[in-house]
Amino acid sequence: MVDALLELHGVSRAYRSAAGEVVVLKDVSLRIEAGEFIAIIGPSGSGKSTLMNILGCLDRPTEGSYRVHGAATEQMSPDELAHLRREHFGFIFQRYNLMENLSATENVALPAVYAGVEADARTTRARLLLETLGLGERTTNRPSQLSGGQQQRVSIARSLMNGGAIVLADEPTGALDHASGRQVMAELKRLHAQGHTVILVTHDAAIAAHASRVIEIADGQVVSDRGMDDPAVARSAAV
Ligand code: ADP
Ligand code: MG
Repeated sequence: MVDALLELHGVSRAYRSAAGEVVVLKDVSLRIEAGEFIAIIGPSGSGKSTLMNILGCLDRPTEGSYRVHGAATEQMSPDELAHLRREHFGFIFQRYNLMENLSATENVALPAVYAGVEADARTTRARLLLETLGLGERTTNRPSQLSGGQQQRVSIARSLMNGGAIVLADEPTGALDHASGRQVMAELKRLHAQGHTVILVTHDAAIAAHASRVIEIADGQVVSDRGMDDPAVARSAAV
């Protein structure tokens, strides 16, 4: 069988606590193909962020295997994982996670510092990305001088700095008003149309309806995984 872009097989993630072991992700198997637009939905605490962190190689499974482009991640060193992360993934978080002491341009350029890109080339690309996201006039602003929606668009630009072939967005509209949230979704749809693989966590059915595949998580397990052509999903998303 041809390798999927991302492939989880029997993945579990457990935490040790004083009360014993807590399994927050249980035997998850998924194949994600290049160019998909996926929404991950489920109640708070169900394991969505844990799954996203594993997909983005920010965290590792305690059991099971995870392959990126056919490469098994289990045996990789922290450096190799960091390299894989930089090369393939862009991250968007609910709270933007921008550095307050850096300008918009510097925030966007940051992932390329670690990738070893030369300073002028970084700045040029960061400004271009900000322009594409409608922030050409805001390049020198600090995060505190930007609205929530603008900060999230800075973080989208940052996710693209090293290419961002796979964009992982964990509740990207969760902290935004309706209009700013719509703008962020429009950007994610544009990225998908350009060929990026987009994986989005949301608990908003209207947001999930933008995706072409919806994976539902409950209590650490995948309880449904359907294309949006499926009438059952289309109905619930229309509410
Ligand atoms: P979601 O994103 O769906 O709200 P999470 O993936 O953040 O859920 O968390 C799933 C469960 O794992 C929650 O019960 C949470 O308390 C627990 N959890 C997350 N991170 C840790 C951690 N570092 N240590 C212990 N438990 C954790
Ligand atoms: Mg979460």
